[in-house]
This record gives sequence, C-alpha cells and structure tokens, in this order.
Amino acid sequence: MNKLAIKGGTPVRKELFPEYNTIGNEELEAASKVLKSGVLSRYLGAWHDDFMGGEQVRSLESEAALFYGAKHALAVNSNTSGLFAAVGALPIEPGDEIICSPYTMAASATCAFVFNAIPVFADIDAVNFCISADTISKVISKRTKAIVVPHIFGNPAEMDEIMALAKKHNLFVIEDCAQIPFGQYKGRNVGTLADIAVFSLNYHKHIHTGEGGIILTSNKTFYDRMRLIRNHAEVVIGNDQARETLEIGNISNLLGFNFRMCEIEASIAKEQLKKVKRLIDERLDNCNYLANGLKGVKGLSIPNLPDHSRPNYYVFPILYKKEELGGLSRNAYVHAVKAELQPTKLREKEGVLIGEGYVRPLYLLPAYQQKIMFGTAGVPWTFNEREISYSKGTCPVCEDMHYNRLITTELMRPGMNRKDLDDVIAAFKKVSDNHQELL
Ligand SMILES: *Cc1c(COP(=O)(O)O)cnc(C)c1O
Repeated sequence: MNKLAIKGGTPVRKELFPEYNTIGNEELEAASKVLKSGVLSRYLGAWHDDFMGGEQVRSLESEAALFYGAKHALAVNSNTSGLFAAVGALPIEPGDEIICSPYTMAASATCAFVFNAIPVFADIDAVNFCISADTISKVISKRTKAIVVPHIFGNPAEMDEIMALAKKHNLFVIEDCAQIPFGQYKGRNVGTLADIAVFSLNYHKHIHTGEGGIILTSNKTFYDRMRLIRNHAEVVIGNDQARETLEIGNISNLLGFNFRMCEIEASIAKEQLKKVKRLIDERLDNCNYLANGLKGVKGLSIPNLPDHSRPNYYVFPILYKKEELGGLSRNAYVHAVKAELQPTKLREKEGVLIGEGYVRPLYLLPAYQQKIMFGTAGVPWTFNEREISYSKGTCPVCEDMHYNRLITTELMRPGMNRKDLDDVIAAFKKVSDNHQELL
C-alpha cells in the first residue's frame, strides 16, 4: 500500500492538477474592444503626440501608478525590457559595477551588460533567498553604481537595510518585482521602496498579458529617460521640443529600443490589475494550508519570514534536511515525490511542478565563466581595472540552496482546492515516511 510510486507502488494522485487561468470575460471584452477599434498600437517613434503610446497604454499607466502609489508608471513589453530601460536611466559608465543576485531569472543581471556595466554577485540570505545589506556590503567597490534587488519567489527583500546601505555609498537601487505583483514590506507596497521598480506580465507570473511589464518610479528624470529608451530615444533627443518637455539629464546612454506595449495587452493588464489582490489572498491561503500540512513531515522545513513581510509566493520554497532522512539526496527525494503526483493542466509538458532548487547560480553560466557576453575579448570586463571573478564558491549559500537544500513548488496556485493540496502534502509525507526504500 505504501510502496513508493518510483519503486512501482500506487501513486498518491492519478489526475492532472487544475490549471491556473486568470483570463476571463473581462479580459475578453477589453481585448475585443481594442481589436474592433483597429488601433492595436498607437506609438510613433518620433516626437509627436503619439510618442507616449495610445489610449490603453496611457490609461494603464495612470491606473498602475495609482494602484501602487508611485508618481509615474510606464508600460513596456516585458520585465526584461523594463530592467534594460531602468539601467539606462541611471548615470552608468562602461565598466561600472552593478550588484546583482545570482538566484533569479537571468535578465535581473544581464540588464547591466546592455549599458556595458558588469554584474557583481552578492550572496543570498538563507531565509528569504534575496540579496541582503549584509551580503551586498561585502562586494561594494569603488566602481559600484547600482544594485538590482529581485524579491525572489515573491519574498520581500529587507529593503530598509538595503536602502540605508545604498544611501551611505551613493548607489541607485532597482527593485525587480517580477515575482511580487502586490507585496508589502513594513506596511508599504513593494515596488515603491527604491529608485525604480519593474514588474512582469509574462504568462508564468501571478497576473499576465502574455508578455508585458510595468515600471514604477517617482523620479521624473528616470521616468523621462525610460520613456525615451522605450521608444527610439536617439532620434527624439535631437528635437528641441522634446528637450524642453522632458527632464533628460545627460544625454548619454539614450540608446533607444522598441519596448512598447501594444494596446491589447494594456487593456488586458488593466483587468488583471483589478484581480491581483484577490489572487494573492487565495494563493496565500493555499500556501498557509500547505505549510501547515507539511509541518512535522520529516526532512522538510518551511522558511519563516518576519511578520513585517507579506510575500506573494511565486513559488513555494521548502528547505530539505537530508540529515533527517538518512542522508538521502535532495534530488532523489524530489524525484520520488514527483512520481507520486501529476502535471498541471495547460502545462502538461512541464511535468510535475516541483523543482530541485530554482535556477543555476547565474555566474556559473558560460557567458560569465568565459566572459564572452560581447565578443571574445572580454568586453565589458576590460573596462574595469580590477579582476572580477565568477568562480565556483562565489556565493556559497546560493550554491548550497540550489544544489542541495531547496525544493520549490508551484502546486499552490489559485484553482487548487483542499483535496489537491492534500495530495501534495500526502506525496511529501509518503516519501519522507518511506525514505528507507530509497537508501
Ligand atoms: C520573469 C522574471 C523576469 C523577466 O520577466 P519577463 O517579463 O519575462 O521579461 C525578470 N526577473 C525575474 C525575477 C523574473 O521572475
């Protein structure tokens, strides 16, 4: 009866998990209205009334600014684009260093390269998995200009300490909020705690428009520079009127891209924003249930965030303690749990949504190891006088989490009912209780 599925026993669950789908009639109607209008994007890449986009884009921006309590919001076509624009808004020189997290989606660090800056990695904290003032302070140098702080897994980073450190060293801070669309930190909205914040609206995030992103800032110069970078800046800064209207600052780095969001996506984003609070409440409720159910399961512990943080749980992190399970490796354990469960509807091909860690520590990727991000001659590292190393062991906590200790799961998204969550809990419990079969 209790034989593990991976050993030929009966699995805990035989049917797929329910899909996570936030797209409803509201989005359908909003998008059809735009389609029927025939105006799918109104941007012009020249100084003109339409330089800032169409009706939907502009109204999304005012709604988002109001929703989060930021002075300015910009719609862009992805969080990646948003991060690129954010770095370009700052006074960055080639070879300057930007402190990044190694444990995040790649773009949270590659954004530095776009303006020839160099990512330098700070280790993560073992409780919230974000970079911290403590780890950041260890890698600050004379060339450090900025910090990109991802609120990873939807856990708010300890921003008060990070901002105090940044102030002391005159550094700019960008919040990468891709995984935290509506988090709180000490009663304040995550995304309003630093100089610039960027949100993602890609398909895998809590709310989405297929692809998309929103930038927040309360700094008018950064705002104007990002609006330029979004839409072919170099053409527009030659225009006298543009120079009079916008607070551009130094015109270097105003390399323009096409980061423009379409009208359909903007119309969908407005509907999605209305749903985000409810979706996060539901997700938190599921996560609490999961955390309670996993309490006391041998070999697992759930990281406890401080009371002042309201996380959003993009994924649900679980710490694995092999010493409680006879030294069984985390990967062998996770394989056995996955064998007890099933994939999720709409994402069948991804297999069971439980992960061995998250992403490989970014500095271990070939582009960093071989310093070949631009060409083969070491640009942009050659623009910096010191040797920046990405050797194994650079961020030991991150490596240990990724390779040995962290389990992540998405099996807690809204749409999962109590029975679904009970199956997830039962699978972990079954493998822990019967781990002897795997040794
Ligand atoms: C998803 C994600 C991104 C990139 O978002 P896109 O909208 O796909 O460009 C960046 N950072 C983090 C932490 C993410 O999770």
